[in-house]
Amino acid sequence: MSVPELKIQKTQNSRLADFDFSNIPFGKNFSDHMLIAEYSEGQWVSNEIVPYGNLSLSPATTSIHYAQSVFEGMKAHRDEQGHIALFRPEENFKRINRSGARISMPPVPEEIFLGGLNELIKLDHGWVPKAEGTSLYIRPFMFGTEPFIGVKTPNRYLFVIITSPVGAYYSEDVSVYVDDTNARAVKGVGAAKFAGNYAASLMPVDAARAKGYKDVLWLDAEQHEIVQEVGTMNIFFVKNNNTLLTPALDAGFLPGITRDSIIQLAKYLGYTVEEARWNIHDIVAMIEKGEITEIFGTGTAAVITYINRLGFQGKDYHFDPSKYMVSVLLKDTLVKIQKGIIEDPFGWVKRVL
Ligand SMILES: *Cc1c(COP(=O)(O)O)cnc(C)c1O
Repeated sequence: MSVPELKIQKTQNSRLADFDFSNIPFGKNFSDHMLIAEYSEGQWVSNEIVPYGNLSLSPATTSIHYAQSVFEGMKAHRDEQGHIALFRPEENFKRINRSGARISMPPVPEEIFLGGLNELIKLDHGWVPKAEGTSLYIRPFMFGTEPFIGVKTPNRYLFVIITSPVGAYYSEDVSVYVDDTNARAVKGVGAAKFAGNYAASLMPVDAARAKGYKDVLWLDAEQHEIVQEVGTMNIFFVKNNNTLLTPALDAGFLPGITRDSIIQLAKYLGYTVEEARWNIHDIVAMIEKGEITEIFGTGTAAVITYINRLGFQGKDYHFDPSKYMVSVLLKDTLVKIQKGIIEDPFGWVKRVL
């Protein structure tokens, strides 16, 4: 399919000079530009980088009513020499199209997603923070825009990329509540980074917070027994300080790129990784025997987040992340690969500038 040539309209009012990089709240500040590409009636009709700003949409916009919207989350890092690099960006490109296919969206061409992203980062390079642990968070997303009230596959879409400077890796430890009543998503839909899944997670997460937990550990939607993932992270259990247990991809949860990277890195470092259907009762039995030594989540935002408490059916199981070794080594190594501090044996880091 032919793709319109990228047009770039630069801002006349850069906000960069006034931006306070010393205190950056997550997800609230956006760089000077955004990429917008429009798809209409079977073809991509525009492809532009424009000043960041509001969109104007009909109140009948299909995706507002029927949630036909998918997104991605990725980061650009600055290395020791000041170069800017992306981490496995082609995986995000493939995933947004797998997510979109599940909700009947046309695929975004590589030239628009990866080509446009590279140009956007080059233009807004000043927005990639320099301090230790910081990065530019990138949010590509796509949604149906046909002004039509009725459930059918729309024929108009916008694909957009916005970027947001973020502070040091969020690494507060997290407590999780195992919800054995509500499900996040059914198989097929659960593996898509599809907006509706996140709306469906809000009420159970609020309920877990009211009970004093930070997030929910989701189980499968059919039996409410098979471990899936936590919030916007995949989950790992470390057994006997040498084996990682993690759910095998089953279409019910999101196949994280950090999850895949941690699995490959752990094997490279000599750990055993067991991907399987883990029943929560078997995991809890291993915890009670003292075999589970660490629990952690993986995701682009914090790479690895340590879990310090797991609540299941009225009992709390406590963990002490200050004693974690395996997950600390994995996080440290992956962050150093992303930042170009140590060699990248996997070819994951893609330099932009
Ligand atoms: C994005 C996301 C993850 C983590 O995926 P990464 O590619 O590692 O960032 C895990 N679970 C859910 C539900 C997610 O949305």
